[in-house]
Amino acid sequence: MRVLIVEDEISLAQLIAAALLEDGHDPAMVHDGAEGLGMAERSAYDLILLDVMLPKLDGFEFVRRLRAKGITSRVLMLTARGEWQDRVEGLQLGADDYLSKPFAMQEMLARVRALGRRYAEAPALALQVADLRLNLENHEVHRGEQRIELSVRELALLKVLMREPGRVFTRTELCERVWEREHEYDTKLVEVFVGRLRKKLGEPVLVHTVRHVGYTLRAPLA
Ligand code: CA
Repeated sequence: MRVLIVEDEISLAQLIAAALLEDGHDPAMVHDGAEGLGMAERSAYDLILLDVMLPKLDGFEFVRRLRAKGITSRVLMLTARGEWQDRVEGLQLGADDYLSKPFAMQEMLARVRALGRRYAEAPALALQVADLRLNLENHEVHRGEQRIELSVRELALLKVLMREPGRVFTRTELCERVWEREHEYDTKLVEVFVGRLRKKLGEPVLVHTVRHVGYTLRAPLA
């Protein structure tokens, strides 16, 4: 499995990476939350091993944003021993499992294997509205037989719209979901991205402007 290790204790991260490599996985390491989230967004990891206490972006906020972006990588959270609130919060935010620190590498590997099995058994996930299909595993978008190439932001925007077809999103809501919360954003940017997305998706139009409110994606009326 492709595994991303997000852990600021570098020696621990290296030990985990070495154990995963030996067990036949393909690990990558990163030492702060913000950079980790960027990597998780750019590349499809099967599993993310996520520390809770991290510089720049903590593990809870990480998993919340990851799921808000529609990224379905499995998440195994590494929590401090005894802090059951951490475990509950992590799972509620969308983590798949947790492991209390300190842990034995054998236990970590067993959890990773278990999550891998669950992952393999899960059906291929896709979003579909009319003839538009978004594969959540490889991020490919098709309209009918036609493959559509989208940028990372266009894809994130499409995912938000396709998860709730017919719902009207305000520009501000789309900004918050697609762009990082702490960045300065401009709702004009949303108009530009929606325009580009609409053009790429072709006819009949799926992304509609709701005057004075925002945007919605829905199947063409029969
Ligand atoms: Ca830490």
